[in-house]
Amino acid sequence: MLRYFIARRVETLGKLAGRHALITGGGTGIGRAMAETLMAQGAIVSITGRRQAALEEVAGAFPVVMDVTDPTSVTDGVAVARAAQGPVQICIANAGIAEGASLPKTDEAMWRRIMATNLDGSYRVIRECLPDMDDWGRVIAVSSIAGLKGLKGAAAYTASKHGMIGLIRGLAADYLGRGVTFNALCPGYVDTDIVADNTTRIVKKTGMTEADARDIMVGLNPHRRLIEVDEVAEAALWLCSDGARSVNGQAIQIAGGDY
Ligand code: NDP
Repeated sequence: MLRYFIARRVETLGKLAGRHALITGGGTGIGRAMAETLMAQGAIVSITGRRQAALEEVAGAFPVVMDVTDPTSVTDGVAVARAAQGPVQICIANAGIAEGASLPKTDEAMWRRIMATNLDGSYRVIRECLPDMDDWGRVIAVSSIAGLKGLKGAAAYTASKHGMIGLIRGLAADYLGRGVTFNALCPGYVDTDIVADNTTRIVKKTGMTEADARDIMVGLNPHRRLIEVDEVAEAALWLCSDGARSVNGQAIQIAGGDY
């Protein structure tokens, strides 16, 4: 009977009661939705990003200013989160930038910017958090459909997102049987600032209306609608659950169909 009541109590506290999750880029878009979804299931959440004001808008999350392109900033930021909230048991490498250009127009600076944020940043934050995961852990990288296929006019972004899946698969192979899983989420076009910025770029380049430019973005997903942030957040929540403990080394497409 006592066990039943304890189980019910844990249930009401949420599936992730007491787990500490650190989410990079957690102040906006997909990262913010993941923070709110995990907190609703009882997780203790630390969110990171460069803009303190954006982080402070997420009620209930612990804000840590961190630039994932700077190794010291990542080491210090994870240490601050750990000191305040305990060992990191869930690490979500979500911070990213989406710049695109044909390769001849991708100069060294642009290539480095994209790699430094998307790929190097993921490597750094995962490496800092991993020692905290003794016999239970979840590592999730927010890659993209560009991690699974070539995205036209964005070879550097495509390479960085493929790299993130390689990192996840390599780690899954290294940590087999230790209770820690490593997976990547690969969304199609999600309704966030990244899509809004792309829409603005199309308007500037072509002179078309904002609505027509947004329709182009909508039409890029096979199911002809933008994906909502909570669709990605729910997938992250499932990967963090004990029910997903045998899902490891996978790249899960959240795109509305095949590209
Ligand atoms: P947002 O622009 O809202 O999120 C990006 C986040 O990354 C921001 O919170 C930003 O915070 C943070 N960030 C960027 N650069 C750095 C940095 N150098 N150091 C620390 N944090 C940084 O867009 P999304 O929510 O859409 O993007 C989240 C992830 O999802 C990205 O990795 C993106 O590539 C991926 N994705 C998005 C898709 C979409 O259609 N929206 C599709 C597929 C994948 P700050 O600027 O304050 O540092």
